[in-house]
Amino acid sequence: MKTPFIDRIKAEEIAAAVGTPYYVYDAEGIRKALRGLQKAFSWCDFKEYYAVKACPNPYILKLIREAGGGADCSSYTELLLAASVGFEGESIMFSSNVTPAEDFEAARSLGALINLDDITHIDFLEKHGGIPGKICLRYNPGGHFEISGEIMGSPEEAKYGMTREQIFEAVGILKEKGVKEFGLHAFLASNMQNGDYWPKLAEILFELAAEVRERFGVRISFVNLSGGIGIPYRPEEKPVDIRAVGKHVKEAFEKEAEKSGLPMPSIKAELGRYMTGPYGILVARVIHMKHIYREYAGLDACAANLMRPAMYGSYHHITVFGKENETPDTLYDVTGGLCENNDKFAVNRLLPKLEPGDLVAIHDAGAHGFSMGYNYNGKLRSAEVLLEKDGSWKLIRRAETPKDYFATFDFEGAEIEVKDSF
Ligand SMILES: *Cc1c(COP(=O)(O)O)cnc(C)c1O
Repeated sequence: MKTPFIDRIKAEEIAAAVGTPYYVYDAEGIRKALRGLQKAFSWCDFKEYYAVKACPNPYILKLIREAGGGADCSSYTELLLAASVGFEGESIMFSSNVTPAEDFEAARSLGALINLDDITHIDFLEKHGGIPGKICLRYNPGGHFEISGEIMGSPEEAKYGMTREQIFEAVGILKEKGVKEFGLHAFLASNMQNGDYWPKLAEILFELAAEVRERFGVRISFVNLSGGIGIPYRPEEKPVDIRAVGKHVKEAFEKEAEKSGLPMPSIKAELGRYMTGPYGILVARVIHMKHIYREYAGLDACAANLMRPAMYGSYHHITVFGKENETPDTLYDVTGGLCENNDKFAVNRLLPKLEPGDLVAIHDAGAHGFSMGYNYNGKLRSAEVLLEKDGSWKLIRRAETPKDYFATFDFEGAEIEVKDSF
């Protein structure tokens, strides 16, 4: 059973102040996740660079910075966000692809660690920001990525990273250009519930590190395991045992060190989902019940607020506030109001009997939730709220208003009177 980290009274209290729908994040949950991760890797020099795209709110980034995390950015604006909360230098990882010149320039001027996606970016970076003394290279091993014979991902279809040969070639070129230290990065599968993902990935990267070191005599100062650790979206799923992950990555290193004498590199991570996913919920109100060939519960939130179910068919658990103990005996499609039939938060979901006015929690929306929001059908982004351990909360982003929607138009003759609320 999944229970939201706020109850009906708190949910209504926030709704009365900021309106619905809204996102609420559990600050202490995020801190605990980071602490657990740091502890699992306390055997090495470890740093988690939170993937900013998962929940790009400066208040979230600030609490991650205060808890010892870094920021993983992939665009100019994400770099600005990170810089705005005090991240600088090597506390920023810049893992971009198809990177515009001004993005590289901004990353270099902040002193961020550059994670280079492609061999052709060497010349580009040299022109736009310059080659740093320490650089990370993104590896794509191609083929299928398997764990115990099971296919977990298909790197051969992924646009990211360099081939093995390109990695070696890039190291040679960069060494010539004065690079002294290298990092190696790969991201081979997403939302991995399988605890063997990082150990397997670490094995691949340690092995590559050993070969790079042998062939070029350069220092591999870090291995970047990136993101990809999954979370239990379904109530019957279990969280990944992060302590076991840390232990098995250590074993993977020891095996490689024994074989090749690879000195211990630092380990870096860019987890997004794992860090905030379970600690954010989207709270929405049932505004209509509709009875046709199916039973529909219509919410005041829609896929523009949380895209994952429409985009990937993802499961997000739903709790009805105040009806936590009622029998889920009615089959519903829970929908938003977009003119798109995939705008459904749940399909054929058993829930307690719903009625207009009910407040629902859509769970595990703390990563790739708000941030994937959009304005289709003129829908507006919601507010975001940060809940503290003592039950206090603050608004960390107000909801968009029609004025925000109209702010980017400069349409001569269209003098539109836009009201903030109706
Ligand atoms: C999206 C992304 C991440 C975070 O992935 P999660 O699945 O949220 O852990 C980390 N690194 C890079 C380069 C990414 O694109």
